[in-house]
Amino acid sequence: MGGEAGLPVFPAILPTAEPGHACCAPEEPDDGGDACCTPAAPEPEALPATCPACGTRGRKVGAITVRSLALQPPPDALLDAGTWRFCPDRDCPVAWFGGTPDDRRVITVAGSRVPIYQKSDDPDRLVCYCFGHTVAGIRAEVAATGDSTVPADIAERCRRGEDRCPETNPQGSCCLGNVHAEVRAARG
Ligand SMILES: [Zn+2]
Repeated sequence: MGGEAGLPVFPAILPTAEPGHACCAPEEPDDGGDACCTPAAPEPEALPATCPACGTRGRKVGAITVRSLALQPPPDALLDAGTWRFCPDRDCPVAWFGGTPDDRRVITVAGSRVPIYQKSDDPDRLVCYCFGHTVAGIRAEVAATGDSTVPADIAERCRRGEDRCPETNPQGSCCLGNVHAEVRAARG
């Protein structure tokens, strides 16, 4: 063993009996409990939360969102029995995915009744689906006045109970986060 460059020689590090995860320690009695030791445990929600096309985690929506916004919604029984999610990825062609383990469905952007805010760059698209506010409208107001009255308008009308976000917004929930982001972007 004539090492040429005098490399330091470390003593071999042998794997020792590592304690590992407490819940996986062999001496632990098998109480059948800990999730990290139980491979393929059946989950209450058997469908993955990630989009089958792009892998992005989807936001849960109610059946009402898919029923209202899909051009050809799945049958009512499947809509009500299934779980449904919205894929927010800009470039992914999937709008909603879900169903049941036995009957998985995907509804594409082309199968949506409305252009989807997250998946378009069209300035004339809606960002607020309940009250008809567009991205272009927010930009024009900010350009003219330096700010936007849209967030306050939406908040006030929501307080009055006039919003129907689960039925109108493809993401199945209130648009205010997206609206605030548009106002911030427009203000620069
Ligand atoms: Zn996707």
